[in-house]
Amino acid sequence: MKTYDLIQPGFCYTQGMANYVKEPFRIKMVEPLMATTREERERYLKEAHYNLFALRSEWVSIDLLTDSGTGAMSSAQWAAMMQGDESYAGAAGYYKLEEAVQDIFNYQYMQPVHQGRAAEKVLFPIFLKPGMVSLSNMHFDTTRGHVTLAGAEAVDLVCEEARMTGTYAPFKGNMDLERLKDYLAKAAAKVGVIIMTLTNNSAGGQPVSLANLKAVSEIAKEYKIPLVIDAARFAENAYFIKQREPEYKDASIKKIVRACFQLADCFTMSAKKDAIVNMGGLIGIREDRELFEKVKINTVPMEGFITYGGLAGRDLEALAIGLYEGIDPNFLHYRIAQVEYLGEGLKEIGIPIQYPCGGHAIFVDARELLPHIPYYEFPAQALALELYLESGIRSCDVGSYMLDLDPETGEQLEAEMEFTRLCLPRRVYTQAHLDEIIRAFAKIKEKAEQIKGYKIIEQAPVLRHFTAKLEPIK
Ligand SMILES: *Cc1c(COP(=O)(O)O)cnc(C)c1O
Repeated sequence: MKTYDLIQPGFCYTQGMANYVKEPFRIKMVEPLMATTREERERYLKEAHYNLFALRSEWVSIDLLTDSGTGAMSSAQWAAMMQGDESYAGAAGYYKLEEAVQDIFNYQYMQPVHQGRAAEKVLFPIFLKPGMVSLSNMHFDTTRGHVTLAGAEAVDLVCEEARMTGTYAPFKGNMDLERLKDYLAKAAAKVGVIIMTLTNNSAGGQPVSLANLKAVSEIAKEYKIPLVIDAARFAENAYFIKQREPEYKDASIKKIVRACFQLADCFTMSAKKDAIVNMGGLIGIREDRELFEKVKINTVPMEGFITYGGLAGRDLEALAIGLYEGIDPNFLHYRIAQVEYLGEGLKEIGIPIQYPCGGHAIFVDARELLPHIPYYEFPAQALALELYLESGIRSCDVGSYMLDLDPETGEQLEAEMEFTRLCLPRRVYTQAHLDEIIRAFAKIKEKAEQIKGYKIIEQAPVLRHFTAKLEPIK
């Protein structure tokens, strides 16, 4: 087997796409990473009952648990934080944020909220009543949760290509248009909203094409159903459109963002992703003043007065700047290339991944790497635990372990895909960190057959993966 150490600096991978692009910034503030021994890590994992969410972050070397709220803010953002206006009503940050949303998205109205799920909580009950349906290319967990809380049903209609992990397709995040049309032909009256998630997080950070979004928008208009964009990774999605949709190769990121958002009626956004803040969220409304009034009415009791919406004044300032830094083409070029570098490096040493790489994370196909571990012994969780034991790197399971038991039969469900997810925080880790991740996988691959599965000894009825206790199978 080729060891990763032999790869020369500047090595060009297959397709020549994955050269490491140098960081378009320099480092001004640092945070030490703690080194741990394998013995210590064995003890920490045992104490955490083999649940990676129960680990203290100080026991982790490279933390790939999530890209949500884990990015590094810029000196411009920190400087703006110091100038935050903490007035209860009419704070300066609110108006800066409004201006940024109007400029970037060409939307007339916006409402800050404390994070993405708060935007869902405020907006969805306006569109969804008990018995109704929400259609999406794929609902994110919290999105599905708030659809359900509104009494409605969440239906995913992602395209077929999303399931073929080893096969290249440029836009695996797309909506399956035929299934969408079929559904509407049968039951349009029940459908309260159509949600397009950009990028498609649950399908592996896979992008949605502008052509697909256009087609969905036309269908939504035909049936007079509001179209909402779940905009957490709107900038990464725009970058993929520029890269892969020939029509837009010369368009600026901002122009592509505007073209996408003109097709929808409103958006919900977790600003903890592409807008590079540690906490924050947004609702954007293109032009519907009546809808904006309803949003404001819900926001006051749920999130706080409209000009702060659950955030401190300083957070509004950082967010207004983060929206611009997130669409900077130099930043996006580096960001997407960094994820690709990790993915291509893993492929190079024979680790199976969802391909092509997503925008924010690499999804390792644990079923293929550990075929001897059945789904009910959680191969993707076993791989995540082994990665921590081997190197102190924290990742997470997006597979059968993440699914709850069948509420009717109490049986363990089998996930369609068993992924170990490696999420890259924005502007945090360097090339050497990525090489260390690849080296850790090279070691794991050598002893893959010896890796054992796990069993759950304690679990909550819903969202069990955050708190469950596990034990290795002897
Ligand atoms: C993170 C995320 C959310 C929820 O946002 P929070 O800020 O975590 O509440 C919703 N949709 C998508 C696609 C996300 O990635």
